[in-house]
Amino acid sequence: MSVETRQLIIIGSGPSGLTAAIYAARANLKPLVIEGGGSGPQGNLPGGQLMWTTEVENFPGFEHGILGPELMSIMRKQAARFGTEFLTEDVTRVDFSKRPFTMWVGNKEFKSESVVISTGAKSVMLGLDREDAMIGHGLSTCATCDGFFFTGKEIAVVGGGDAALEEAIFLTKFATKVNIFVRGNRLRASQIMQERARQNAKIEVHWNTEVKELLGDKELEAITLHNTHTDVKSRFELQGLFYSIGHKPNTELFKDQIELLNSGYIKTHHGTATSVEGVFAAGDVQDHEYRQAITSAGSGCMAAIDAERWLASHHEA
Ligand code: NDP
Repeated sequence: MSVETRQLIIIGSGPSGLTAAIYAARANLKPLVIEGGGSGPQGNLPGGQLMWTTEVENFPGFEHGILGPELMSIMRKQAARFGTEFLTEDVTRVDFSKRPFTMWVGNKEFKSESVVISTGAKSVMLGLDREDAMIGHGLSTCATCDGFFFTGKEIAVVGGGDAALEEAIFLTKFATKVNIFVRGNRLRASQIMQERARQNAKIEVHWNTEVKELLGDKELEAITLHNTHTDVKSRFELQGLFYSIGHKPNTELFKDQIELLNSGYIKTHHGTATSVEGVFAAGDVQDHEYRQAITSAGSGCMAAIDAERWLASHHEA
């Protein structure tokens, strides 16, 4: 059975994928967005990382801020309004060695003249024993989703970047105390976030502190800490632990297909072009520098325009 060849398939549905879809749909490319079919922070959740954030205060146009999931819902509706089609599944395999490009969702095959990859990035884990068992039982990578469950409890956040401080501040709405474990002796977060955390009486920062073990039978009850300065190990009782130590690009699918940087991010040039002509990349999957919703949306716009121009020059309609 022959498979219809589309003009553009967009893989991923964060700000970059949906912005690419809005632009491509308005350019009559009838894009299909394969938006991800997973759930949870480690799955390919439609909407991407903003589905795990609370207030987004720095997305232009929202003077008083907007919730991440709400922003993504609006973007999706905006893309649909211009005729974008959506498939709520994960792409399982791609072949970019010849055109049209082929993508599979299980056994189902899709063909397209051009592709925008916007698969984003995922939370990094510490790699401790029992992480999988403890996720959802006291261990979380998403303050937005799970913060409420820790009302009246003492909890902790691992990490010292903007994300860690933002989550810690958010979690003080629920928890009695929020400890922050920083492995070194400085915070990587911006000054404004450091100041906000300093001013919050519920937050205590523990320097030179690594989390080594997750303790508890069914629920997380305590952790083992290692002070790298004094070399002392200690038991720390808590009811919740949030990882906020960065992200890893979702590029497993593409590693033998297009050029990646050593860090795993997709290498782009001249805007959003990848090493394969006709395949473009946008958003956090190719941006290890800025990683903001607005820069991601901006590069999604660039990718749609790049794809449109590339299609026009290679396939006269
Ligand atoms: P960052 O890379 O900025 O920070 C990661 C933090 O995790 C660092 O403190 C790092 O420590 C720590 N870390 C990394 N690995 C480990 C480990 N194995 N054990 C313990 N600690 C570890 O990541 P973020 O996710 O915080 O932010 C990503 C980007 O998004 C940044 O550019 C940030 O500015 C931006 N952002 C902006 C926001 C905003 O503007 N509102 C909100 C959230 C994020 P170390 O310093 O020692 O390496």
